[in-house]
Amino acid sequence: MRTKEQWLEGIRKMKRNLYIAGEKVGRDDERLIPTTNVMGTTFEYASKPEYEDLVTATSHLTGEKINRFCHIHQNTDDLHKKQDMTRMLCQVVGGCIQRCMGIDASNAIYTVSYEADKENNGATAYHENFKRWLERFQSEDLVGCCAQTDVKGDRMKRPSEQPDPDSYVHVVERKSDGIVVRGCKLHISESAVADEILVVPTRALREADKDYAVSFAVPGDWDGVKQLLTIHNYRDREYFPKGFSAGSCDSYVVFDDVFVPWERVFLCGEYKHGGIVALLFALFHRHSYSGCKPALGDILLGTCALAADANGIAKAKHVTDKFAEIITVSELGYAAGFTASELGKPELYVPGVGVKPYGPGNYIPNSIFCNVGRCLTGEAVYHEMEILADISGGMPATFPYEGEFVNPEVKEFAKKYTTRSSTMSPENQAQLWRHIGDVACSAKGGISCFGALHGGGSPRMEKIAITSQYDIDSRREIVRKIAGMNKE
Ligand SMILES: Cc1cc2nc3c(=O)[nH]c(=O)nc-3n(C[C@H](O)[C@H](O)[C@H](O)COP(=O)(O)OP(=O)(O)OC[C@H]3O[C@@H](n4cnc5c(N)ncnc54)[C@H](O)[C@@H]3O)c2cc1C
Repeated sequence: MRTKEQWLEGIRKMKRNLYIAGEKVGRDDERLIPTTNVMGTTFEYASKPEYEDLVTATSHLTGEKINRFCHIHQNTDDLHKKQDMTRMLCQVVGGCIQRCMGIDASNAIYTVSYEADKENNGATAYHENFKRWLERFQSEDLVGCCAQTDVKGDRMKRPSEQPDPDSYVHVVERKSDGIVVRGCKLHISESAVADEILVVPTRALREADKDYAVSFAVPGDWDGVKQLLTIHNYRDREYFPKGFSAGSCDSYVVFDDVFVPWERVFLCGEYKHGGIVALLFALFHRHSYSGCKPALGDILLGTCALAADANGIAKAKHVTDKFAEIITVSELGYAAGFTASELGKPELYVPGVGVKPYGPGNYIPNSIFCNVGRCLTGEAVYHEMEILADISGGMPATFPYEGEFVNPEVKEFAKKYTTRSSTMSPENQAQLWRHIGDVACSAKGGISCFGALHGGGSPRMEKIAITSQYDIDSRREIVRKIAGMNKE
């Protein structure tokens, strides 16, 4: 396994293909430091003996110790540990831990490439290709991101019906040694600091869409790949540093006629499997949310409780009711993920077929529980922000700049007129309001809310998964009997 420094050394040698606000930059750009602080935590915690069991795993391919973010789940214990590792690490960095996209995409592609080869009766070697890629991914402790979301153009049209064929990433040429792909994947988190970009389709596909049924992996600086970034850092602190400086970044990843050698291609034309890998990535990712969303709930609860302390209202009934609401959503989200792990099996719901054994034996979390948990916690995001705003009052929105707290002319006024509680030091109160301003009144705060709502698919997508997979008919039957209705 690598250290954070070894990982940074590796990505800083990559070709400059990142575009930020009109500049072409490398991975050493200082605006990426808050992002690498977060991702780096996944390396640091893997080397702490007290977290070894949670943050490392044993590779089923080599038997070697690897970072859990590179692991393929082999049993329900692995699923539980992934959920708990995610919650723990998100608590450390105060938000998204960023490396889950790589583990979720790897698990999805590992599973589906096996099934595609089986159906192709050995005519393709996607799974062997993927296993070779995975072995390197694990032994070199690489960071992966997942590029799933396409431009999509007109939402009511399928990929092959779009006026612009590049609205979805697709194969433009098949050669003896590989394929050429074109298109763009949007909102791809941390691809700017990832060693490898894993590409999967966005949606269900039909035969006419077969050029869009493509899955592959390329290094983040591969020829023809260009990344257009947005950076989501908190406001710089000059005098009163935060305890942990976190940030994130998302890219439009452009594939400008990119050549991908066959050994890096894991699906090409298998449209049914293209749709399944899209669903399966979303499923594994929604399972990751059962770790990160409870952690965000933990952080929000702590923030609200401290704001209530600072305002002297911690025992007010409307405030404790709000604490209970946050705890309820967080722990139900966690419980759903726990159950999804516990019921995990090498089985998958395949649209039009139902639940069936799926993949080479690796474990897939239960779909209904992943989806209900993600839906509950995702839709609560804006209400939770409302709770924070209610308990805080207006303070975080208009809190004076740091400079006023060090300027001899006004610093005593700044301190005197921002102090509320007599049981919390004025300095701590000021740090708290600055922190709440960061998470709730900043560009990064707003972007995080969008990510928490849409990441892993918009709420509607979870509802489609829930209602299409849940046995509603058996519930009809229950009520028919109770109500004394005849069979139709
Ligand atoms: C901060 C952030 C980070 C992200 N990170 C990643 C990442 O790392 N990798 C990745 O692949 N993706 C990532 N995403 C993308 C995320 O998965 C998508 O935003 C999500 O799937 C919604 O897709 P969209 O943004 O295209 O919105 P749209 O699909 O345009 O959704 C907008 C609205 O249209 C509705 N809609 C869409 N299609 C239809 C239809 N056919 N019929 C009726 N209604 C429809 C939706 O339900 C929704 O209400 C990220 C997003 C954000 C905001």
